[in-house]
Amino acid sequence: MDLFSCLSPFVFSSFASGSSGNCYYVGKQDEGLLVDVGINALQITKALTKVDIPMSRIRAILITHDHIDHVKGLEVLTKSYPIPIYAHSDCLQGILDGKVTKLVDPELFHEIEPMQPFEICGITIEPFPVMHDGRGAMGYHFNYEGHTLTIATDIGMLDKVVKEQIKRADNIVIEANYDKEMLEKGNYPFILKQRISGPFGHLSNDESARFVAEVYHPGIKNIMLCHLSENNNTPEQAMQCIYKHFRMKHVHPDVNTSIFPLPRHRGTGFIYL
Ligand SMILES: [Zn+2]
Ligand SMILES: [Zn+2]
Repeated sequence: MDLFSCLSPFVFSSFASGSSGNCYYVGKQDEGLLVDVGINALQITKALTKVDIPMSRIRAILITHDHIDHVKGLEVLTKSYPIPIYAHSDCLQGILDGKVTKLVDPELFHEIEPMQPFEICGITIEPFPVMHDGRGAMGYHFNYEGHTLTIATDIGMLDKVVKEQIKRADNIVIEANYDKEMLEKGNYPFILKQRISGPFGHLSNDESARFVAEVYHPGIKNIMLCHLSENNNTPEQAMQCIYKHFRMKHVHPDVNTSIFPLPRHRGTGFIYL
């Protein structure tokens, strides 16, 4: 058996992750979809070239919510490449109301409903609602030939629905936005600190690490920490926090489980799911 035949046919790649822009690729090695377009079209084209996928092989764009760091490249990208856009109807309205996205062609829109699965290039996609102050905010669970991935970003609180969707995946992209102490001691205005740490804001390192340690099992292949704050977190803090919670729960992650933060601006290459 050669190396490539043992690799999973289902891949993930992060092109950017964090409050300055988010964009992920989910799919096969030759076709798939984008989740969020929070970086510009040129950056996406370059990132796709690095993983050897032409834009013509992107079958759909899924949007998590209408915040600028998730949609700002959408208008320019879809002007050149009219790729179908899938999102909650509230999010699609938010895109049309957005300053930098108001000229996105509504003909490309496909409304999707939480907990109503659909399929794109053989991948089953199940959107689920998340608590966040963006319009129509949703996470996504993917299943391709039994390989599973849940993307849970921009979440104020891990409620029952989100927990279930994370538990059913062997690959997890979960937000670890801020270190509690850095946020408290930092110079953000009080109102912004309250928004970030509130039930419709973002997940702290502690919140996501505690949950991941609680549900960890050796079948989990990748735990990817996403949307790290530039000012209130560091990749080291996020990783230390997850290991702290593993120790507290006496959990020893399996050698086949990779745990890592997604870089803010750099691409990751293919991660086999
Ligand atoms: Zn965001
Ligand atoms: Zn957001």
